Amino acid sequence: MVEKILVIEDEIALSETLVYNLKRQGYDVHAAMDGHEGLSLARSLKPDLILLDLMLPGIDGLEITRILRKEAKTPILILTAQGEEIDRVLGLELGADDYMAKPFSMRELIARVKAILRRIQLDRNGAQEETLEVHHFGNLTINQRKHEVYLDEKPLKLKPKEYDLLLYLCANHGHVLTRSLILEEVWGWDFSGGTRTVDVHIRWLREKIEEDPKNPVRIITVHGVGYRFDE
Ligand code: CA
Repeated sequence: MVEKILVIEDEIALSETLVYNLKRQGYDVHAAMDGHEGLSLARSLKPDLILLDLMLPGIDGLEITRILRKEAKTPILILTAQGEEIDRVLGLELGADDYMAKPFSMRELIARVKAILRRIQLDRNGAQEETLEVHHFGNLTINQRKHEVYLDEKPLKLKPKEYDLLLYLCANHGHVLTRSLILEEVWGWDFSGGTRTVDVHIRWLREKIEEDPKNPVRIITVHGVGYRFDE
């Protein structure tokens, strides 16, 4: 599932930078330049996350937070300028999830966005734990609670990173995933190795789950881009 993010920010340059960088991360990003448009898009798009500037023409960010909180639980990440500390506190009190003080780096912002979305996902998973703990992909079965993988009901021995990688690929089955995205999601931001690590682990996984690892039918190489997991 591609997550939808709504950016409500009237500073054109910042809005464009945010949209560009979030799109590069694979999110479905929409932008509103004033409070009225922001509120109506928040209602019609039902985004997974809202990035909300406080000082906006039309309706300001605090008012939007107040209104939206009565209608939905959509997480809100407030973007505040210097000197808006009081508004920041008010925003959090009104139910915003977090804030970023301007100027911030895109890297920092994206890390924060991911953290919020991951938490939401965990909450959702928690709510659906029963259905989510066992996944079937053809003759491949993953028991997430037990951290076990079976091929034709025979248990497979996977290294922890192979397991994480497989789980990530399965969770995004059907989607093309770039090496750098996989690296970031499975190994994390601070991992210093290169994308070659991904290729090596893919090879190991193929040896374990593919009938013919040289002609894989599950973990497909998308040339020049990355990989895709097919059921
Ligand atoms: Ca503004």
